[in-house]
Amino acid sequence: MNFGFTPEQKMLKESAKKLMRQEVVPFLAGAPEDRPLPADEIKRLLKKLIPLGYLGSTIPEEYGGFGLDYLTYGMLLEELEPPVYGLVMLQAGTARSIFLLGNEEQKRTFLPKLLAAERIGCSCITEPNVGSNTGSIQCRAVRDGDEWVINGTKTWITNGAFADLAFVLANADPSQGKRGLARFILDKDVSPWEANAIGILSGDGQIPSVGELVFEDCRVPGGNLLGEFGRGLKDTLIGFQAARCYVALDAINIAQRALDAAIRYARERTQFGRPIGKFQMVQAMIAEMAMELDASRLLAYRGLSLVDRGLRCARETSMAKFYATEAAVRITSKAIQVHGAYGLSREYPVERLFRHARVLPIPDGTTQIQKLIVAREILGLQAFA
Ligand SMILES: Cc1cc2nc3c(=O)[nH]c(=O)nc-3n(C[C@H](O)[C@H](O)[C@H](O)COP(=O)(O)OP(=O)(O)OC[C@H]3O[C@@H](n4cnc5c(N)ncnc54)[C@H](O)[C@@H]3O)c2cc1C
Repeated sequence: MNFGFTPEQKMLKESAKKLMRQEVVPFLAGAPEDRPLPADEIKRLLKKLIPLGYLGSTIPEEYGGFGLDYLTYGMLLEELEPPVYGLVMLQAGTARSIFLLGNEEQKRTFLPKLLAAERIGCSCITEPNVGSNTGSIQCRAVRDGDEWVINGTKTWITNGAFADLAFVLANADPSQGKRGLARFILDKDVSPWEANAIGILSGDGQIPSVGELVFEDCRVPGGNLLGEFGRGLKDTLIGFQAARCYVALDAINIAQRALDAAIRYARERTQFGRPIGKFQMVQAMIAEMAMELDASRLLAYRGLSLVDRGLRCARETSMAKFYATEAAVRITSKAIQVHGAYGLSREYPVERLFRHARVLPIPDGTTQIQKLIVAREILGLQAFA
């Protein structure tokens, strides 16, 4: 077991820190705070991340990607500025789905546009009445001649407010139950839909994190079925293994920033004539935060190294997701505590980090669902069908 970074990983992480400092932080600081960025500005921001492999991720070079392994890509994601994390994770994730499941024509048509940030991708599973119970999707796809006709609403979709490529999970044959679920690639120019932003706790206004998409008699070319018919749900669940580790790393990124801020503050702030970091109860908070952060990181890295080896790892990746995201809520909350009242003010970063962390135990399977998966893998008994 190797607990260090390789020289290449170290170099990549250093280059990522520099890219954030020189390009992303100034871009976000210069963006208006009172209105969301238009899609072409979001694309401009995404293009800045191309040279380091943020969009090419694990896709092989022959398809225009960066050919990183899943673990190294996770280490790269960990360096992202928090407001762009979901944006980049989903952009790379949709490209990865095309690479893994798409036929040659789909790869040729959609991959170059996603990798060049000319199109923004989103993945649509959740519906107003369908959250944790993914198998009960109500969105319908009906074959009509050479086309599919899609009707339904998808909600809480990352990038959904401005995406122009949507991967939609719909039921194409209700008589087959869950086996009737299929995934479709929708290009907004060809198959238009309506989209709106949804305001949430972590949203800072510049990049609306989630949106709702409404498909009304939306006509999709017959060739845009992604993957094998009947495997829509199974493929989605397999994709969750890596995605859950990447959500864990979103939490780890946030928690690391909160710990760093708490350490800085504990050294600078004085009460009773000494730095508050000298008080044992403040030291205990710092020690607990650091320990939970290390545990989160080790779980996430283990999950991704199993994904890299092509092993089934539902138990390990669900553990990483639920532990890291819940730990980030505790860590960011403690970081506020270390800051006292100043921690609640917008002048310090920790209240924003707490709001971001609080969101993460929900997407890609809630904490409760992750626990059911872990227990199912251990007990061999299923709590939900
Ligand atoms: C920031 C963010 C980004 C998101 N991005 C996307 C996206 O890109 N694409 C997408 O499709 N969706 C996305 N989602 C939606 C997300 O996947 C769902 O919110 C999630 O699956 C939970 O569904 P729900 O919110 O409807 O909660 P519900 O399923 O209604 O659950 C409500 C509560 O009941 C609990 N519960 C439900 N079933 C059980 C059970 N069997 N046992 C015990 N407890 C249970 C849950 O844990 C939860 O506490 C996103 C959500 C957020 C917040």
